[in-house]
Amino acid sequence: MGKIQLLSDTLASQVAAGEVVERPASVVKELIENSIDAGARNIEMRVRRGGISSIQIADDGCGMDKTDALMSLERHATSKLRESSDLESILTMGFRGEALPSIASVSKFRLTTRETNALEGTEILINGGKLISVKEAGEAPGTQIEARSLFYNMPARRKFLRTENTEFSHIEHQVRVHAIAHPRIRFLLVHNERTTFHLPATESLFERVRGLVGNELAMRLLEIRKQERNGIKISGFIGQPGVSRSNRSLQMIFLNRRPVEGAMLQYALREGYHTALMKGQQAVTFLFLEMDPRKVDVNVHPAKREVRFHDGNTLKSMVADVVAETLEQRESPSPNRVRETPAPEELSVSFEVSEVEDLRQESLIPELEQQALRKDWSPLLATDALPEPAAVAPEEAIEQPDEELIEAPPEPVATQVPKAKDFRILGVIGKLYVIMENTQGLVLMDQHAAHERILFEQMRSRMETEGVPTQSLLMPVTIEMTPKDFDLVREHVGTLQKLGIGAEVFGANTLKIDSLPTFVSESDSNRFINDVLEELPKDTGRMSSVRLGEDMVATTVCRHAVKANDDLHPKELEKLLEDLLDCELPFCCPHGRPTLVQISFKELEKKFGRVV
Ligand code: ADP
Ligand code: MG
Repeated sequence: MGKIQLLSDTLASQVAAGEVVERPASVVKELIENSIDAGARNIEMRVRRGGISSIQIADDGCGMDKTDALMSLERHATSKLRESSDLESILTMGFRGEALPSIASVSKFRLTTRETNALEGTEILINGGKLISVKEAGEAPGTQIEARSLFYNMPARRKFLRTENTEFSHIEHQVRVHAIAHPRIRFLLVHNERTTFHLPATESLFERVRGLVGNELAMRLLEIRKQERNGIKISGFIGQPGVSRSNRSLQMIFLNRRPVEGAMLQYALREGYHTALMKGQQAVTFLFLEMDPRKVDVNVHPAKREVRFHDGNTLKSMVADVVAETLEQRESPSPNRVRETPAPEELSVSFEVSEVEDLRQESLIPELEQQALRKDWSPLLATDALPEPAAVAPEEAIEQPDEELIEAPPEPVATQVPKAKDFRILGVIGKLYVIMENTQGLVLMDQHAAHERILFEQMRSRMETEGVPTQSLLMPVTIEMTPKDFDLVREHVGTLQKLGIGAEVFGANTLKIDSLPTFVSESDSNRFINDVLEELPKDTGRMSSVRLGEDMVATTVCRHAVKANDDLHPKELEKLLEDLLDCELPFCCPHGRPTLVQISFKELEKKFGRVV
């Protein structure tokens, strides 16, 4: 029908040029995107030997007639872009018209395709970019593509490929990301004849996420209350405080359902998580942004991974705010429950209450018990104790029929913070670890981390209200600094004062400090001041002085205030536990490390050989 046309030379030169086929996973990505653009409801992907030996995709999308099928293999031929102005508002995944010809030029390529109501379809064979044959074929409606022997004609490129397992894990990641972005599409991924995952179509983003990351992690996600500000809609799920990974494999962000990456968004997440994320750890997010496509440029990166936002700052602070608000909601009287969110496609279907929600809300079993049931020992609110994603989705679990997936009793989320009376304090070891008992077994509290969390929250709330109590120094300290540092400090004198540091400008490039927070001991004052002044430049460029203050509190103030290796009396230990459990985020310290760890009776039984 001639839907596909060549881009004009001018337009062709405007699309971000570059190699799209770097490795098997890039082929997979391009092919899935094409199937999504073709309106597929079912996408089946079969790969062999990490995709190096073969990548096959079958979809039930719109298909192509013979003319289009041939045209699709021309460079810069696309049905998705006609004129320059279209580039400004792209909603399709593709638009450059380069993927199919690129893939066909580096593989043994077979395309069969048939339009829905067409009597027959077309089969095209190409080897290393050379047309071998064009025939009529009778495949099912939709499109099937196979790329075999990737880079067989480019030995240099082939050498750069990693092991089959590594290549496959990249492929798997690509399929996962697109599967999360499109819960309404059924996805099947098969590697070397074995099913890696099979995800039935669902209306619910949560079900899709759960199908991919497993129940345990899914139950530790918080739903973002869908909201719209400045024409940007945000929705999705993010990990509870303390849930994190050492890499970004589960940090997914979608813009108009296109997976996107970028330092700016990562920064915003970090900012939003702030102290709920351990340094060096990565947040787990399935974040959906929707906005007018004219406000963002997707034509930046050949593989379209990065996008450029016209108003990046607004977006950045919005993402950070929404993340921070979502993390706090956990503590609100009506805790943030997973309502069935319609997948972020058509918004016509919505479920108020789902089976999953019912089950979750009914359960009053506290998190501790859950932990004990499903894990032998773990931080009370797990940090990174989860297996890596590849290991999460065992075949058996995923090959279950759909009903089973839904009926499997979902485990409830941490609905309640435990009370101090749930624990019996037994003693302290190593002057650091408080040993306690609860109904599930043994609980350890890191005295230092707990105290840090408590102080952090106290300081923060005081900073926001009356300010931190201070003591005057017997001898005011004057500090001379470089003009650059001085300017910086001068800008933030207000913040320092809120932190309980009585700082004043004292002549050119000199600062006078005449009071410090009460918890800083006189002998420690110089080190404290140095620490603060050292931290300050690192943290500028932060969003607000409040945030700057929080960071200062987290990084320096606590370090000085904490009862490290102090012997605490039983009464003091009790108070410490009480205060900790009163905190907004009791399960991790301001650096995101766990404060409490549970070791279940089951684990103890295992250790003593009572059970296997
Ligand atoms: P682009 O996606 O940037 O347009 P591609 O080279 O990936 O470029 O694809 C070229 C054209 O081939 C697409 O514009 C589309 O019209 C058609 N096409 C590719 N894959 C499919 C598919 N799975 N189903 C239907 N049409 C397809
Ligand atoms: Mg494409």
